[in-house]
This record gives sequence, structure tokens and C-alpha cells, in this order.
Amino acid sequence: MTYEGSSIDPSKPSIARVYDYLLGGKDNYAVDREIGDVFKRDLPGSVAIAFANRAALTRAVGEIVRTTGIRQFIDLGSGLPTADNVHQVAQRHAPESRVIYVDIDPQVLVHGRALLEKDERTRVVAVDVRNPEGVRTHPDTARMIDFTQPVAVMFSAILHHVNDDEDPAGIVRYWRENVPSGSYFFVSHFRSGDNPETQEAEKVLQQTFGRGRWRTDAEIASLLDGLEILDPGIVPAPLWRPDQTATPWNDSGERQLTVWEHLIAAALARKP
Ligand code: SAM
Repeated sequence: MTYEGSSIDPSKPSIARVYDYLLGGKDNYAVDREIGDVFKRDLPGSVAIAFANRAALTRAVGEIVRTTGIRQFIDLGSGLPTADNVHQVAQRHAPESRVIYVDIDPQVLVHGRALLEKDERTRVVAVDVRNPEGVRTHPDTARMIDFTQPVAVMFSAILHHVNDDEDPAGIVRYWRENVPSGSYFFVSHFRSGDNPETQEAEKVLQQTFGRGRWRTDAEIASLLDGLEILDPGIVPAPLWRPDQTATPWNDSGERQLTVWEHLIAAALARKP
């Protein structure tokens, strides 16, 4: 099943639009801003988490293109167009890079088609990531992605929106089994601090969207079973291969993180 025909409902908050609001975007409604403000109030680091996540994603795309021959990306739960979308970062380094954006939100489809599909190297498809077979066999994916060549599969801030009973590990396993050796997997994920702040945020997400699962590093590692997790491992997103010129570092060369910046993890893994 795809979600091509579903329509935008401005009366219900959407994950994509709340996230857009936190990133300072304009593609959101009052109902999204209301829930976004609950996050800003109860989890004051929400905005920092969103930006830390985007920055890690941007660095990962750059690293993949610069250090591997991979030129094709599947961006799962891609979100509304924002600054530095995956194809823009990849094509900055390698203009021939191709990206399939996948999201379930009808607004992402409309805005994505208008803003991201500038040429034959980017497509936006409306398929549920919990249906990986549907994503892989979608005609646009089949046309754009050469599955005999390594692929970068991007799970940026999406697996925490897949509940345990929806088998997030099975989704990653599906992709692992269906891409060639040498393919890369990027994951960013709400990182459980096992503290009242994350428990409260988890509650708000579950009440609003029926999903939103903070996982520990061990739980995130188990999602990447069978893959080789590359340096520096599963770490808070700001510490994932940081751009040392862009963030404040102390004299010992360490980055002082706020409590909030610990709450989003990033990792890059490779299929052996
Ligand atoms: N990947 C982007 C990033 O890291 O900046 C956006 C992340 S945003 C927090 C999560 C996105 O996943 C939203 O756009 C939402 O619509 C999408 N999403 C949530 N559940 C999904 C599902 N089951 N299938 C496809 N997309 C989904």
C-alpha cells in the first residue's frame, strides 16, 4: 500500500510538521505548533535535539559520499524539505548522486515533489517504512536505485517512531538482506536517558501520535544486528564525527554537551 492519495489534515498534528516547527520551518499548522510548544516547554532541548540530528545527518551524507563510492541513497522517513536535504549535500560532493525520499505524510509528498524533485536524480514516494518491500519495489525506487551496487540506507530520526511490536529490527534486517555488501546504514534515534525528562517526552509522543520510543544504546545496537558499526560507535549525535570548527570545544578538546544533546544518538554502520 502507498499513501499517494491521502490528504493533509490540518486538524491533527503530524510528526513531520511538528519537527518542521522545531526546526523553524513554516510548513506547519496551529495544531502542530501547540504540541511543538509542549515539547519546547517540557523538554527545552527539543530544538537542540532536532538541530543536532539534522547536523549529524548532513555530516553522515558528506562522509559517505567523500569516503565511499556510494552514490545512491534511500532516505526513510525523510521529513519536510528543509535546509541541506540529503540530495543537496550528496550532490555538492558528487553531482551524480541519486536520492529516493520516503515518507508517509501527505504534506511531505506535496512539498517534496515541488521542492525536491528538480531533476531525474531525486524522487519522493509515499510509502510506509514499516513496509520495506513496498519501498524497495516501488516503481520509482526500482528505476532509480541499482540494487547490484552499494546503497546508503538512511534511518534518520525514524526508527524511534516504530514501536517494538512493529518490529523495527526486522525493517533494518530487510534492508540488510536486500542491499549488497559495502552498503551503509545511518541511524539517528532518540536516546533513552532513563530520566523523568525522557519519560515525560515519551509519554507526550505516545499520547499524541501513538508512537515515539526512546531506546538505550544497547537497544539501538540490537537494531543494527549483522552490521559493522563504524567509529565512533553509537554516540550522542553532536559527538558523531563532529565538525570541530562549528561547535564549542574546551581546552582539552572535549565538547561539553547539554543534558538534552545526550538524548539523540547517531551511528553509521556498514554491511560486511
Ligand atoms: N529524516 C528527517 C530528519 O532526520 O531530519 C525527518 C525526521 S522526522 C522526525 C520523522 C519523519 O518520519 C516524519 O516526516 C514522519 O512523517 C515520517 N514517518 C513517521 N512514521 C513513518 C512511517 N511509518 N513511514 C514513513 N514515514 C514515516
